[in-house]
Amino acid sequence: MSYSVSPIGFVRSCFKEKFAIPRQPQLAPAARGVLELLPPFDQPEAVEGLEQVSHVWLIFLFHQALEDKPRLKVRPPRLGGNRSLGVFATRATHRPNGIGQSVVKLEKVEPGRLWLSGIDLLDGTPVLDIKPYVPYADAVEGASNAIAEAPPAPIPVQWTDAALAQTREHGRRLGEPVVELIEQCLAQDPRPAYQNPAPERRYGVRLWDLDVHWHYPQPGLIRVLDVGWR
Ligand code: SAM
Repeated sequence: MSYSVSPIGFVRSCFKEKFAIPRQPQLAPAARGVLELLPPFDQPEAVEGLEQVSHVWLIFLFHQALEDKPRLKVRPPRLGGNRSLGVFATRATHRPNGIGQSVVKLEKVEPGRLWLSGIDLLDGTPVLDIKPYVPYADAVEGASNAIAEAPPAPIPVQWTDAALAQTREHGRRLGEPVVELIEQCLAQDPRPAYQNPAPERRYGVRLWDLDVHWHYPQPGLIRVLDVGWR
């Protein structure tokens, strides 16, 4: 038996590649995007009342991680990539039907457009449904998860003077909190857990229309080296 679903819209996001996206929503409040709704959901009626809601659940497709062969076990990066767990014990992207869910902040509601922050979604992510967050039902008192008890401990992020000046300028141009975005994303240390890079090794990622480069001058410390405009 199979069912078909189709997107109600697509996300335009600050994240242009999978690397350095936080592993869950809310970890980078400066991560912003817009959900552009498709007809007929771009009509004002579809979002009437949503302005009374602070957060929404987005049900979406991990469109860049879809696979034909189902996996029963996965290796979550959070566990260092060397321990496998049952797929249903994790929030890994490789999963049956490729469905993801994130609670995100609703910044502004317009017909056909929802302005979001705290997202963990790649640019172009197809969204299947939106549901209002209901605090009394969704925030479960006493809930526990011994696999993912707390967010990753942030690591310090330093800047070269030039990179910070460049980024402030780009932030003004884009009208986006880009310094905060870079700090919040890098503080979660996007590098795979098993890598222990030499100080001269440079890492890079694209955020909005910017190429961000950094290195690890010593273990547990990130320094942003330059932030260039494409
Ligand atoms: N909050 C969601 C959940 O629990 O279903 C996503 C969790 S998943 C561990 C988060 C990762 O998904 C991000 O770090 C990013 O690399 C990846 N991701 C986000 N959007 C994606 C997309 N459209 N296709 C593939 N991977 C995506």
